[in-house]
Amino acid sequence: MEKLFQRWYDLISIDSVSGHEVGAADYVAEVLRSMGLEPHYSYFPEDTDRQRPSVWTVLDSGKPGKTMLLIGHIDTVDVNLKNWKTNPFMPTEIDGKVYGRGSMDMKGGDAAILSTVEYFAQHKDEFSGKILVCFVADEEGLSKGTYQLVDEDVVHADYAIMAECRYNNVAVGFRGRFSFEITVKGKAGHASRYPEVGENALISAGRLAAAIEALPTLSHPKLHHGTWCVRYLAGGNSGALVVPDSCYMFVDRYVVPGEDEAMCIRQMQEAAEKLGLADKVDIHLKPRNSPYMKSFAVPEDHELVVKLQESFKEVTGEDLPIDYDPSVCDSNILAVSCGIPVVTFGPSGGNMHGDNEYGYPYQVKNCYEIYKQTIKKLLSA
Ligand SMILES: [Zn+2]
Repeated sequence: MEKLFQRWYDLISIDSVSGHEVGAADYVAEVLRSMGLEPHYSYFPEDTDRQRPSVWTVLDSGKPGKTMLLIGHIDTVDVNLKNWKTNPFMPTEIDGKVYGRGSMDMKGGDAAILSTVEYFAQHKDEFSGKILVCFVADEEGLSKGTYQLVDEDVVHADYAIMAECRYNNVAVGFRGRFSFEITVKGKAGHASRYPEVGENALISAGRLAAAIEALPTLSHPKLHHGTWCVRYLAGGNSGALVVPDSCYMFVDRYVVPGEDEAMCIRQMQEAAEKLGLADKVDIHLKPRNSPYMKSFAVPEDHELVVKLQESFKEVTGEDLPIDYDPSVCDSNILAVSCGIPVVTFGPSGGNMHGDNEYGYPYQVKNCYEIYKQTIKKLLSA
């Protein structure tokens, strides 16, 4: 088996369900070492047991030039063993599909990155500048691996290819996402005296929830528009004859470029004022350890996009359409926090995050070729 596929198979065979990425991290580190590169380990502070490293390295051509970042995550989602027809940690090829956890998302992309960097390590005369390679943990969680590399000042590049599973098009823009918590206050009283006595916080929250979902959003020609989703409401007490005096609300907000958290809070505050609830609500961003992801879009005529499309055409004979994604991924961090133009493109498959996940060998192979060609064009020697 050629090394590219062997690495894909090896990575699938290593259980790196989010939470214990260390086996996959050690594996990529060892492969990088075998190419004469020095792997660096990065741990985020919550990982006190040191089971969740990310691994990164730099291949320097020795000539001045730009830097290309190749990035993939090494963690996978968990498995529900009883629903799998094959052993998810034993890659199994059936009818041109390779089954196994991570076969699609995204150990094929990781293998393609490894073989790309190996090629250029052996052909330093074929590029100038540097290739930064990052294999990150916790992408399926809160992206702590990528955020940690940003904190450690590792992530500097002129271009980035996020090798996530997306083969039939290249994503150049993603929406962002914020979560908000709202507490709506009412006034307690004996239920038998309601509504003369007491003020029902659940009713106020319900009215506010409906008003929030009707709030306008900005729009973007390709990412369409932002969205509001009231995802959770809680309050009251079914066991006591008391008018509910408090209601908790959780609001999800997908955003497009130009929308930020302050703007969203202002909008919700205004909605509360219109309902006469201004002094009865507390609205804030839900605290979390990692920053929230803002929206971005790389121009479609950016050279990174154009060269990737050209390379796709050369390798496959077909056109690679541009796409936009309504969700968020680690590409948001690279584009927004680091200001790096990023394209999201890599070998794909089926049943992502589900049972019997599979990937396509020809796509792993083609992506390796496409990454190589793209780098040759952008970091020409
Ligand atoms: Zn993924």
